[in-house]
Amino acid sequence: MQDLYYSSTRNSSKRITSSQAIVNGIAGDGGLYVPSFIPALDRPFEELIEMDYRQLACYIIGKFLPDFTEQELKSCVDKAYDKKFDTDKIAPLVKVGGLYFLELYHGATSAFKDMALSLLPHLLTAAAKKTGIEKEIVILTATSGDTGKAALESFSNVSGTKIIVFYPSKGVSLIQERQMVTQEGDNAFVCAIEGNFDDAQTGVKNIFADKDFNALISRSGYMLSSANSINIGRLIPQVVYYMNAYIRLIERSEIEQGQEINIVVPTGNFGNILAAYYAKRMGLAVKRFLCASNENNVLYDFINTGVYDKKRELKLTMSPSMDILISSNLERLLYELCNKDAGILSGLYSNLSKTGRFSISEDMKEKIADFWGGFATESQTLEAIAQAYNKYGYLMDTHTSVAYYVYNDYAESTSDKTKTVIASTASPFKFPGAVLKAICADGGQHKSLDEISMLELLSEISGIEIPVPLKDIANKKVIHNNLCSVGKMKDFVKSSLNL
Ligand SMILES: *Cc1c(COP(=O)(O)O)cnc(C)c1O
Repeated sequence: MQDLYYSSTRNSSKRITSSQAIVNGIAGDGGLYVPSFIPALDRPFEELIEMDYRQLACYIIGKFLPDFTEQELKSCVDKAYDKKFDTDKIAPLVKVGGLYFLELYHGATSAFKDMALSLLPHLLTAAAKKTGIEKEIVILTATSGDTGKAALESFSNVSGTKIIVFYPSKGVSLIQERQMVTQEGDNAFVCAIEGNFDDAQTGVKNIFADKDFNALISRSGYMLSSANSINIGRLIPQVVYYMNAYIRLIERSEIEQGQEINIVVPTGNFGNILAAYYAKRMGLAVKRFLCASNENNVLYDFINTGVYDKKRELKLTMSPSMDILISSNLERLLYELCNKDAGILSGLYSNLSKTGRFSISEDMKEKIADFWGGFATESQTLEAIAQAYNKYGYLMDTHTSVAYYVYNDYAESTSDKTKTVIASTASPFKFPGAVLKAICADGGQHKSLDEISMLELLSEISGIEIPVPLKDIANKKVIHNNLCSVGKMKDFVKSSLNL
């Protein structure tokens, strides 16, 4: 069999290795790196059941990163999935009212971004070594809230790297902001920008595409890379937990081998749900992917009409990590749908940048029949939190709640009884204001409280302990106090690197 390599979604002629793809982050032509094929599971479930999370991670990730040796990968994986997680299961599957919640928030920052970002610094430094890079790697990241902190936490004090995070000044929760601005580490830089997440993400993409600026960076002994979910090193580790969930379902005799499941994902940049799609292509039996959006329901419209139209106002919601109008990783799905035709993709994305929209062919649309789009409004999000809490005593955050709502909507309108896994993407304690509002009988009691006191109140009411990563942010010193316009992002990078 041919070795797996990577190329850009917008130009298939240039082939690079998986380590080069990880080091570069994003392709120079504006496209995303994609594997030349999606490797198939080649070991029976009987064997996979014997593996713990780390062993399964080595196996799955190894299939996508063929230029890493088994030993190298094991060393990366062991450093990533260790005591930073508050459970040895790493991603526990919790059964609630006939559904399975795949809890992805047991890592260092209480959000699912930890699943991949715990691993990325190790993959990246190993990949840099392999490709003979001696430059210092500068991670440049735009965040809608959770990525920023998870990236800061995982890269801080990793030698040979610097990490620069931009976040929208009005678009992250107080707790998310506090988590970021209190980040310690000599190599960590944080800046709020005047704009929303899409502005921040576009700003970062522009810096990557700026040839002159990259030349300056390079002359100064640095190279830029990305920790956003556009980096293949972010995406691949996410395939693991879907496989793991499936295997644990077999192990617990909840399903038979080969039996189809549904997967529901609260979606923003389309990374998490794309990982589930990759898992299916590897051999996981998935009937439906339920793509759950909040009021920024671009993907809902796209799945239902085949037209992607970002020309609309971005709404700030109580699920801020999904407040996105340009879901970058969708490009990787589209690439698979058009049989890897980089020309078609370049056309679609040139339309998107010129007119704010594109529409896919009937043929491509037929191939997303296993995707179901749904969305929850703000009040539906609150209702769903209250419903799960009152009925089952299960507390969920605002993002997971969007998925839960969309699932219930789906189940009602289709009568589909397929066993279903819901990706649970953040601890409810990351969004205590909204969660309290949803579950408190007196709804208003919390109003005069700051977010930190809300944590305590939520813990008191629910009887659940505040996760350790959130417990002591109140006492931490604010280290980063920066705000700039989108146009000045480059200058912030320059000053952080002393250029
Ligand atoms: C990032 C994030 C999402 C969205 O995930 P994508 O991979 O961007 O689709 C959902 N929920 C939470 C809590 C997140 O942090």
